[in-house]
Amino acid sequence: MNTKILDGIEVAKFLKKNINEQILSLKKRNLKPGLAAILIGSDPASQVYVKNKEKVFSKHNCLTKTFKFPDDSSEEEIIDFIKKLNNDDAFHGILVQLPLPKRFNTKKILHSVSAHKDVDGFHPFNLGLLFEGNPNFIPCTPNGILEILKYYNIKTTSKNIVIIGRSNIVGKPMFSLLSQNFEFGNATVTLCHSKTENISSYTKNADILIVAVGLPNMVDATMLKKGVHIIDVGINRVNDNSKKGYHLVGDVNFNSAMGIANSITPVPGGVGPLTITMLLHNTVKACELFSTRGSTG
Ligand code: NAP
Repeated sequence: MNTKILDGIEVAKFLKKNINEQILSLKKRNLKPGLAAILIGSDPASQVYVKNKEKVFSKHNCLTKTFKFPDDSSEEEIIDFIKKLNNDDAFHGILVQLPLPKRFNTKKILHSVSAHKDVDGFHPFNLGLLFEGNPNFIPCTPNGILEILKYYNIKTTSKNIVIIGRSNIVGKPMFSLLSQNFEFGNATVTLCHSKTENISSYTKNADILIVAVGLPNMVDATMLKKGVHIIDVGINRVNDNSKKGYHLVGDVNFNSAMGIANSITPVPGGVGPLTITMLLHNTVKACELFSTRGSTG
């Protein structure tokens, strides 16, 4: 079997055409989508992610500003700042870059973001709407995965879909989306995690396998059904002797899946580009909703 590469950069380019048109139409009404990013501490990967987001937003003529807080800032200080941003009409979206330093209560901080500005889709109000089958802001990575499936016309109805990883940002919302009565839903979805016994017995029956764990090469050919479509969400740094000192790999052993899988997303260049694109999509949507509501808070 010739395994097809699901090119996330191509899908992102396709979606950005439409997003650009929406940005232009907002500009004609003197509106400019704005994203405030909050970066706490000095995690190198988070700094790279925030910088990449800034680049994409600037390139698309959106307002973007990163507010940096040192590791020793207090939770109250961050929450007070978020409350100010909730009432600042220049910013339609607020993003808190995760993971937060361990001593912070992540839920408490995420819950302080106004549901109207929750462009990451992590607020319980938006997660509730999603589970109800009536989503407003959909978390960016699961939404990006749906866009990959749509672009390559990988049907989900009546399929067995296995997700490995039950995080609030990937696995759980993905489970909800794919099990809804939507065109790209209607699947029978199994959600596996670290306490699942004999994961292979599930993955071997998967028509579509989505892996979001954070363990390099945890899935290999022995765990796959022939003809499976694989979405590899994992981004793992593996040290090497290159100038950078590392390279990125996914959670799936890419080479071992070749010839067995029908299709697979590469790492990098698969799901990653979609996550930022869907953040742009959600921020533009937040700006549009603001224009009809009249205030951001
Ligand atoms: P996370 O919050 O750490 O969750 C990891 C999940 O994997 C947990 O549910 C955990 O189970 C499960 N798990 C851990 N070890 C396992 C094992 N041996 N077998 C089965 N399940 C296991 O991670 P995350 O935030 O979802 O991210 C996962 C990966 O995706 C990371 O590499 C991250 O960098 C990447 N990511 C990429 C993008 C992108 O844009 N491409 C976006 C988000 C995340 P328990 O719940 O039982 O602990």
